[in-house]
Amino acid sequence: MRKTALNGLTYDQLVELCHQAGAKPVHAEHLIASIFRRYNPDLDAIKELPNVLRQYLAEHTCIFEPDCTASQQAADGTQKLLLKMPDGKEVETVLIQAANRLTQCISSQVGCAVGCTFCLTATAGLTRNLTAAEMVAEVFAGQRISGRKVRNLVLMGMGEPLHNYDEVAHFVRIATDPKGMAFSPNRVTLSTSGLVPAIYRMIEDTLPCNLAVSLNATTDEVRNRIMPINRKYPIEVLMQAVRDYIAARGNKRVLIEYVMLAGVNDSPDDAVRLCELLEGVDCTVNLLPFNPFNESGFKRPDDTVVTAFRSVLADADKVVVVRESKGREISAACGQLKTETAAKRRHRTA
Ligand code: SF4
Repeated sequence: MRKTALNGLTYDQLVELCHQAGAKPVHAEHLIASIFRRYNPDLDAIKELPNVLRQYLAEHTCIFEPDCTASQQAADGTQKLLLKMPDGKEVETVLIQAANRLTQCISSQVGCAVGCTFCLTATAGLTRNLTAAEMVAEVFAGQRISGRKVRNLVLMGMGEPLHNYDEVAHFVRIATDPKGMAFSPNRVTLSTSGLVPAIYRMIEDTLPCNLAVSLNATTDEVRNRIMPINRKYPIEVLMQAVRDYIAARGNKRVLIEYVMLAGVNDSPDDAVRLCELLEGVDCTVNLLPFNPFNESGFKRPDDTVVTAFRSVLADADKVVVVRESKGREISAACGQLKTETAAKRRHRTA
């Protein structure tokens, strides 16, 4: 019999579980406090649980914490972890220290099917979706290994979150439920490559999180080349969805991510076109100079090019930030720790 993962349940589902076990709903509070607030998976430590519930939980449920199979730490404190899920599949999560706040970058899939040409994760294709419980378990592991409370969650790790909508939405609800993990919705950000129908689903569902859109080009010709998803949902359609999202969510500001690739999307004309695309869009633009990895075929633009690009946006009154990758020496690419660890294993067994 397949056991239910307790760390994938909302407060209401835990109340229902207590009911099924013949226990009082108040015990859902005890489970929440131990599992989601103290991140303690040891149910024996919860003194208040009656035996009937303990027995039910032992028979029908489980809590899992992934093993950390590899890690890297950068000089600035950023930590990249490789986590092994119950079926042996591995995903990366990144802990980013900034201004006394710990931000965790969460993976939503094992691999990714989107195929962005500047992304190492894309080279392996998609293996499977992660469950909400596995995403919660990433947070458990992040807090356990760092010994600190994570303040911000960003769904920007391996995978396209909106390709795994149901589980990601469930995770976001657990993360932001005041009776669950209790993250502020303003501190949870979901990043998409531009899956337009799912952005409209986020609107319909009023999913309690911020939206980030990975734009990375100002013409369909270039975006088709570096982000094949653009052939299905071109820039104009995507930007309309962004405008509709902002309008529907009461002018909620979105994050526009723009990975700068030397000679591909970093020209002064690109900067001007980006300003035009963002006209009237309430957003912050994150310029992300590309961090090359071996097989990428792309280069990082010179700092002068990045500065000039930024100036065009700033002069047009756009809110723009140049984001150097935290822990640049270890995070040349999402998917790199996984690839390197797999290569070392192959080497050892050869
Ligand atoms: S950049 Fe994101 S959406 Fe694109 S292939 Fe990589 S993981 Fe997938």
